[in-house]
Amino acid sequence: MSALLAQGVSPAQFAQALDAMRAVVGPQWLFASEEDIAAYSDHFAFEDVTANMASAIVAPLGLDQITRIIGIARDHRIPVWAISTGRNLAYGGSAPRKHGTLTLDLKRNNRILEVNEELAYAVVEPGVSFFQLYRHLRETGSKLWIDTPSPGWGGIMGNMLERGVGYTPYGDRFMWQCGMQVVLADGTVVDTGMAAQEGAPGNHTYRYGGGPWIDGIFTQSNFGIVTKVGIQLMPEPPGYRPFLVTFAEDDDIEPVSDLIRPLKMTHIIPNAAVTCSLNLEAATSLDRTKYHSDSGPVPEAGRRRMMEDLGVGKWNFYAALYGPEPVMDAHWEVIRDSFSSVKGARFFTEEDRKNDVVFGYRTQLMRGEPNMTEFGILNWMPNGAHLGFSPVAPVDGKTALDQYRLAEAICNRHGFDYTGMFIVGFRAMHHIVEPIFSRSDEDQRGRVVSMVTELIDEAAKRGYGEYRGHLSFMDQIAGTYGWGDDALMKLSQRIKRALDPSGIMAPGKSGIWSDGASS
Ligand code: ADP
Repeated sequence: MSALLAQGVSPAQFAQALDAMRAVVGPQWLFASEEDIAAYSDHFAFEDVTANMASAIVAPLGLDQITRIIGIARDHRIPVWAISTGRNLAYGGSAPRKHGTLTLDLKRNNRILEVNEELAYAVVEPGVSFFQLYRHLRETGSKLWIDTPSPGWGGIMGNMLERGVGYTPYGDRFMWQCGMQVVLADGTVVDTGMAAQEGAPGNHTYRYGGGPWIDGIFTQSNFGIVTKVGIQLMPEPPGYRPFLVTFAEDDDIEPVSDLIRPLKMTHIIPNAAVTCSLNLEAATSLDRTKYHSDSGPVPEAGRRRMMEDLGVGKWNFYAALYGPEPVMDAHWEVIRDSFSSVKGARFFTEEDRKNDVVFGYRTQLMRGEPNMTEFGILNWMPNGAHLGFSPVAPVDGKTALDQYRLAEAICNRHGFDYTGMFIVGFRAMHHIVEPIFSRSDEDQRGRVVSMVTELIDEAAKRGYGEYRGHLSFMDQIAGTYGWGDDALMKLSQRIKRALDPSGIMAPGKSGIWSDGASS
């Protein structure tokens, strides 16, 4: 059994709790060997991996087992951290924020409870992955699409609760959430929205129900464990045309972002489109050593060669049109006219890029087909890993350029390439910076920590905040949202104390500690 117990939990108390849990789930669904615990650690860890190591893992099946496990945890003061499929890589994977927390693995709960073809929604349990729902829809002849993040192996619920984004017109995934079921620390089960009214038709068509809309407080928080969620799906459109526009210069991110704004706000471009940096394109498909033999960032001459070899730009805008042909024709004209104002802009359709791996997987993503191609970036160096530094930017050229230059300078100064992209919603962009580092290189891992610490601080000085963060940076990020004497965090802590007075649910998630302190 692991020696890493949560603070204040005695070995005897822990052993007693595990015995009680085994009796609920069956001994085969409680894992406490060193090997098992290691399997649930953060595989992209850059700090001491034991900092986020679980004490054991329990995998209940069904609402009754889940509530009983929560009851045992509460009675024995054992902190628990729920995961749905545990694939939150780059932000901590399956690992809890604080070592010694018990992992509550929900992936056995993987039923697709409902698909409503007419009203276009599905209801899923925590363990349902993007691949699973996609395959189910295709196998049953459904005409509904899903929205998927770039690695499709993760779960719909976990990703939605983290407010992850995808690339179809339904890319802001949480925007399409409708109805959830939550288990609170005292064992209460709550159905939100219209489902609170017994037998309400259209539970998953109107998300607000009556009274305060509370679903949002269960995202990126530790106020409850979600056991069911409704997700609205996009009906297959009559036509689909992915396209790519490449831009030759680094500074082009400024005019490009400004041009995107009206096209997005008026839905001329309907999907969560993405402007990708050269290095993201290159890392997916090129061998780094052909362009730069040293470990530091690839110099300009190498970057130009990568551009030529791939036939891409310093920035590469992937978007798609959806709909009847005449509508797509008309929108395409507007888009061409608009981006043609940037010198050197080049336009490509699916026809033009038939054998292009990157265009291929982007084409899949923009129509909601899960795949794993983007994981190819991990081959950028031996034992590659990455993490996400993800500030939000309004769709505004000056801000985009400023964020890019800031991130690039800090990444380069710490010896890493800038690898990033701007995913556009309607008025805001998720600027995802994904530095790639070698897991086996201690020096690099150390530099990653100082680099991200600096990125968060320097971004905050300019008023930029992250939409999500790795376990190791949750406290720091929460601290950047400190306006009004930490009014927001104090409110979260009041909710936390009210809902979970013994502080057993996911201590430290998003910087929320029930006692207000990290240790
Ligand atoms: P995915 O595999 O989809 O990337 P995870 O299962 O790793 O997502 O979940 C990501 C994070 O979301 C977890 O670390 C946890 O903080 C939170 N989370 C996941 N599932 C639940 C749940 N059912 N209830 C509450 N929080 C959850």
